[in-house]
Amino acid sequence: MLKIEAKEFWFVVGSQNLYGAEALKEVQAHSEEMVAGLNSSGILPYPLVFKALAVSSESIVKIMKEVNYNDKVAGVITWMHTFSPAKMWIQGTKLLQKPLLHFASQYIKTIPWEKVDMDFMNLHQSAHGDREYGFINKRLEKHNKIVVGHWQDPEAQKQIADWMNMAMAYEESLNIKVARFGDNMRNVAVTDGDKIEAQIQFGWTVDYYGIGDLVAKIDQVTPLEIETLYQEYQRNYDFEMDQNDPEFFEKQVKEQARIEIGLKKFLENGDYTAFSTNFEDLYGMKQLPGLAVQHLNAQGYGFAGEGDWKTAALDRFMKIIASNQLTGFMEDYTYDMVSGNEVIVGSHMLEVDPMLASSKPRVKVAPLGIGGKEDPARLVFDGVSGSGIVATLLDLGTHFRLVINEIEAVKAASDAPNMPIARVIWKTKPNFKEGIHQWIEAGGGHHTVLSLTVSLEQMIDWAKLVNLEYIVIK
Ligand code: MN
Repeated sequence: MLKIEAKEFWFVVGSQNLYGAEALKEVQAHSEEMVAGLNSSGILPYPLVFKALAVSSESIVKIMKEVNYNDKVAGVITWMHTFSPAKMWIQGTKLLQKPLLHFASQYIKTIPWEKVDMDFMNLHQSAHGDREYGFINKRLEKHNKIVVGHWQDPEAQKQIADWMNMAMAYEESLNIKVARFGDNMRNVAVTDGDKIEAQIQFGWTVDYYGIGDLVAKIDQVTPLEIETLYQEYQRNYDFEMDQNDPEFFEKQVKEQARIEIGLKKFLENGDYTAFSTNFEDLYGMKQLPGLAVQHLNAQGYGFAGEGDWKTAALDRFMKIIASNQLTGFMEDYTYDMVSGNEVIVGSHMLEVDPMLASSKPRVKVAPLGIGGKEDPARLVFDGVSGSGIVATLLDLGTHFRLVINEIEAVKAASDAPNMPIARVIWKTKPNFKEGIHQWIEAGGGHHTVLSLTVSLEQMIDWAKLVNLEYIVIK
């Protein structure tokens, strides 16, 4: 998996000086205990660092400035132990440029009624503080995440963990660079869009390259490099020669190894973590990249076919959230309209992400009906099953829109011995007719990212964070 820099999150606790030094000492001790508890839960994917008690506008401004400039910090979690008058949060919160989570929690879980006096009430008033603080975030339109629950509750901890993964992807999204080898497929509408706006809104850089630049890199690959990668393919995948002559088979697979090595060097050189190709623009290449793309997907590179930079970047973004588990580029291909058991068959001409495979993928060599090149090697497999989402990004001319559909991926009902490509099969929610109707009505395209790891909630949190219109079909 492509590495991302390990980061941490800061925990800032709201209070005020009104209750006296003794009370603040207790607040501090409770805060430290809460952070230690969250860190030792084993649920949070990144460390949480208790930073400060926020009791004045000046101290909050100082913390938020530090958050902005410290590259190690991916976001802030705030918690109101007591009431914390929110005017003091305005300046610092306005300055904050990183993801914010308001944890509506409380130190104590159960009220010990026999002990409750006014000191107790003043110390434990998260319910009071949450509302005052929440109002100012709303007023400032921070689009922050709100998680409600006791800090020892695994469900609340999981929600924080999911948000952390989204926040990390949001931060890393600012570094997503897409290399486009060739332009969009001719005459196709939905894969196009405003690249400058995407950089402003999401942080994605999208650069074009003529295929000749890539071919030059591919031509430099040595036989030893090819042999090494070929052996890795042999370890990872089953080879299925079918009617192919073994020598021919090996030659075609090794050509994909050559392409992969050239592609990877090219991407590494320019710090690209996503890319697109176009079967109409392969001058100087012997095969359309198939196995080469799929093996790069397995290493965490985002991808989409036919010059679709939007989906390539979205793929990389969602792979970061998912730690590259069960997430990849997909295309709605064919319907199976058996009454009561209707499904969508997702696939692509070659490049289906092996992170979606339910078992060891098989390497096959077969002709490709379009593109006029040599028979490409590709990975063939059946997809995993389970609940998930498909997501797509479209440019409506005035703004981007994210369309997300909840799905249930299912096992194939029968083998497809003549199908030389991978397949993932799913049922749309709420049902076949309604799901597809709403998708088409929303303008949702045929290229998506399918994930059984990334949640609907994480996608919505991101959409809010980047001020992106979103439509949910579920
Ligand atoms: Mn396509």
